[in-house]
Amino acid sequence: MDARTSNFILLGIVIAIVLAFASVAVFGTAMASVEWLGTLFLKSLKMIIVPLVTASMIVGVAGLGDVRRLGRLGSTAVVYFLLTTAIAVGIGLLLVNVIRPGVGVSVGDLAVPANVAAREEFAWSDLVLSLVSDNIVASMANMELLPIIVFSLVFGAVLTTMGTVGETVIGFFRGVNEAIMKIVTLLMLVAPVGIFGLVAGRFGRVGNFSDLAELLSGVGWYMVTVLVALALHALIVLPAVLWLLGRRNPYRYMLNMGTALLTAFSTASSSATLPLTMEGVEKHNGVSEKVAGFVVPLGATVNMNGTALYEAVAVLFIAQALGLELTLVQQLIVLLTATLAAIGAAGIPEAGLVTMVIVLKAVGLPLEGLGLILTVDWLLDRFRTSVNVWGDAVGAAVVERRVLDGAGDGSRRGPSP
Ligand code: ASP
Repeated sequence: MDARTSNFILLGIVIAIVLAFASVAVFGTAMASVEWLGTLFLKSLKMIIVPLVTASMIVGVAGLGDVRRLGRLGSTAVVYFLLTTAIAVGIGLLLVNVIRPGVGVSVGDLAVPANVAAREEFAWSDLVLSLVSDNIVASMANMELLPIIVFSLVFGAVLTTMGTVGETVIGFFRGVNEAIMKIVTLLMLVAPVGIFGLVAGRFGRVGNFSDLAELLSGVGWYMVTVLVALALHALIVLPAVLWLLGRRNPYRYMLNMGTALLTAFSTASSSATLPLTMEGVEKHNGVSEKVAGFVVPLGATVNMNGTALYEAVAVLFIAQALGLELTLVQQLIVLLTATLAAIGAAGIPEAGLVTMVIVLKAVGLPLEGLGLILTVDWLLDRFRTSVNVWGDAVGAAVVERRVLDGAGDGSRRGPSP
């Protein structure tokens, strides 16, 4: 797809979102009836995730040629993920201590949200065990991305050691990968309609804007804190990282990711957005397939800057509302556990709310505190998911620059903005 068409689609998506809000303002809850249009789009995106992750990982790893490069690529990506996530949490902690949105918030009767109650017991060993599947076909059927990633990594690496037979299999997956990316391009053409359905349908469920304002009353400052912190991270920190370490023009890079970022906002799912993130990183920003194929799926699953930031702000907000002051040491514990909890969060709607249990427990706060932020979680989820996706996209360019260019291999596909 040429740049003109993709700019046209981006404009279409922006218009679709504006129209969606306008129609909710006029027709209120009646707009919930168009949600199926969005669901159709969402299902189409999800349909291609498993083949996309499998094929792009295999092709990416095989393209690296030397397994030692995989080690460098992996370690650079992990360092990038951890550092940027910790910085994001740091920004969240700073702002929540300055704004203090929880002070004076009335608490009332609170209960543990149902989706959290179901997952209350979380052990770290679960995270490690989730890396490996006992049945890869079942994992594919259930769209468990981590074991699929691990399997594809090993599979791709092994293929590179098998000579001509391995080459044949890699060639097959290269074909699969290209075919899936063509489907993504086709899906982009209908993205404006799908996104209209998603936004109008979900906001339509709330009703008109006075209903929305009522929903937000009481947690207004909390929302402001989360949104300002997310904006600082997404518009200043990550662009600076991209510019300094990835040597890219950050705002052009962001514009090229526009469709993916707006889809992340509309779906509240980094996994569902993955096909479009891949398209943006590889096709529009020209990051090589071998790096994007590895970093983007991994990032969509474990790298969640926005989620970590939001969890830290939410936990301190809850503490403030309950009249409890967290000490510096406790806040450091929040920094550490929020970073880890975000890694454990799946790229699906409101996953961050569930893994926040880890952070709350680490500093001894009651899980009932989640009741305070529950009503607006679906809304904040959209913003933090966009930041999660943006962090993955920046990571791909940074890792490419550090690993490939550092090794004297600056090969890139497509334009290099
Ligand atoms: N919805 C987020 C994502 O998909 C995860 C979360 O914070 O709930 O990236």
